[in-house]
Amino acid sequence: MAYQAIIQQIYEKIKAEDNIGQAASYIPQLTAVDTNLFGIHLVTKNHQEYGIGDRYVKFSIQSIAKCLSLCVAYKLLGSQIWKRVGVEPSGTAFNSLTQLELDKGIPRNPFINGGAMVVADMLVSAFRHPEEEFLSFIREINGDNDISYNEHIVQSEKEIGYRNIAICNFIKSYGNLENHPERVLDFYFRICSIEMTCQELANTFLFLADDNFRNSKGEAVLNMSQAKRINALMQTCGFYDESGEFSFTVGLPGKSGVGGGIIAIFPDKYSIAVWSPKLNEKGNSYRGMRFLEQFTTQTESSIF
Ligand code: GLN
Repeated sequence: MAYQAIIQQIYEKIKAEDNIGQAASYIPQLTAVDTNLFGIHLVTKNHQEYGIGDRYVKFSIQSIAKCLSLCVAYKLLGSQIWKRVGVEPSGTAFNSLTQLELDKGIPRNPFINGGAMVVADMLVSAFRHPEEEFLSFIREINGDNDISYNEHIVQSEKEIGYRNIAICNFIKSYGNLENHPERVLDFYFRICSIEMTCQELANTFLFLADDNFRNSKGEAVLNMSQAKRINALMQTCGFYDESGEFSFTVGLPGKSGVGGGIIAIFPDKYSIAVWSPKLNEKGNSYRGMRFLEQFTTQTESSIF
């Protein structure tokens, strides 16, 4: 497959079009980013790498990190985690409060903010040093010690985090948090503040495309059945109330973040990271969605 030529051709086409949307402004620190940056990186199961543009520039992966914290909790605690967080698409925005009330504090899935907070709570209970353990998990996957939290983003989110604070307290009021909401939020914001380049992101998620993937310690990250379930959740819930649209137009499991990043997985073949900071009204990268739609069309690499 001529991945490089296809990536280049679609990249140039999209770059020549209007860059529509807005960078996320509710997190002040995210508006400091140049909204014309645009990068793509693909890595195949056989470790062939392809890409273009600003793929070596670090950006805030935000909600994409929710997949990784979920994997840690799933690996550690097994299927009991599904008692405290659901596996159904929400059909609502990532920070919706109304649904949480209807669901009595059991978030609909682990990728909406409330769900990721419950997962963060599980890790705060399970680890003595959750921040260090979580980072080690990621670094062991791609052997890259350069991946870290961004303290400015953490502070920026804390300062304006009124809605997230409300969500977290709301869940606590239903008894679905073991730890103090402040501790959980602190870890949650830190998880969201992880920075990676497109190259690091694609390599970090390769384990979801390759059943034989081993981390730097020679261990499987998840077993096959667990990886299948994470991919299934990404397919059905990875883009909030635009998950149906992503499935429909791109046809791969994926996850977006308000930093403008998207990771998508073609099981058994490749993982691909796209980054462009301007978001559509649903909070997903405008160019990222467009790129992936054209890419899976031209390469005929949708799972459907
Ligand atoms: N940190 C962001 C928040 O809590 C994550 C949202 C996202 O990336 N969709 O609002």
